[in-house]
Formats: sequence, structure tokens, C-alpha cells
Amino acid sequence: MQRPFGHNLVPMTVGDLSFFPTSADAESRRAWLIDTVASLINANMVGLQPVVEDTPSGRRPRLGWRFVALVNVAYLHVAHLAVGHGELARCEECRAWFPRTDARQRYCPPGNRKALESRCSQRARARRLRATARQREVRG
Ligand SMILES: [Zn+2]
Repeated sequence: MQRPFGHNLVPMTVGDLSFFPTSADAESRRAWLIDTVASLINANMVGLQPVVEDTPSGRRPRLGWRFVALVNVAYLHVAHLAVGHGELARCEECRAWFPRTDARQRYCPPGNRKALESRCSQRARARRLRATARQREVRG
């Protein structure tokens, strides 16, 4: 694999991990970071295979994926995010990262797809309601 380092910018290597010298210029650090992230993502998508498959509804066939391990699918999602298909956001309540599907989304999505609201969103809304109730009590 071609590495984007100049001849004077050699990463330190410990086992399989490489650490870039912090004295390197910003563009070299950026190139190293992208190369490292791409290597991690690519290595974990090796078990994926695109397949054209029939749909249960009988409409047009769709493009699907076969995988060796579920982690391959997880990295496919990471790859989509890495190339700009989708956006990552941080939950304002629990600080966890999540794929944002709507620009107004401030909290992580519900774990149960049938739930309309995540626990974080419920917790934040309850806190806002309590604060509003307290303000009303203070004002009388
Ligand atoms: Zn959350």
C-alpha cells in the first residue's frame, strides 16, 4: 500500500500500530489520519460481497450484501459515514455518537425501533418540563 508520507516524515511503528510524530505538518498528519482510518475500515470490510437479490414483495431486485461477520456490516456503515454519506452527531444527553438522519436530531435514536423517542430525549424533555414548572412556581 502506498503511504502518503514524505521522506522526512516516518511514522513510529509499535507492533501493528503506527504513531505519527506530532511535529509533522498539518497536511501530513491529515493524510496519515485518512490513510490509517481507511486502512482500518478497508480491513474490516473484506468479508463483504455485493449481491443482486430478489425482494419478498416481488418488485424489482435490489442490491444487497453478503457478509462473513456482522462487524463487516458495521464497518460498511462506518465507511458510508467516512465518505460523507450521512452525518455523525453527538447526543446532547449521553454524549454518545450516532448517525444523524435529520438535521433537527439532538439526541441518540431509540434502541427499540418501535419507540418514538429515545431515553435520552425523554430524560431531556422531562428535565425541561421540571425546569418550566419550577419557574412557574417561583413566579407564582
Ligand atoms: Zn443519548
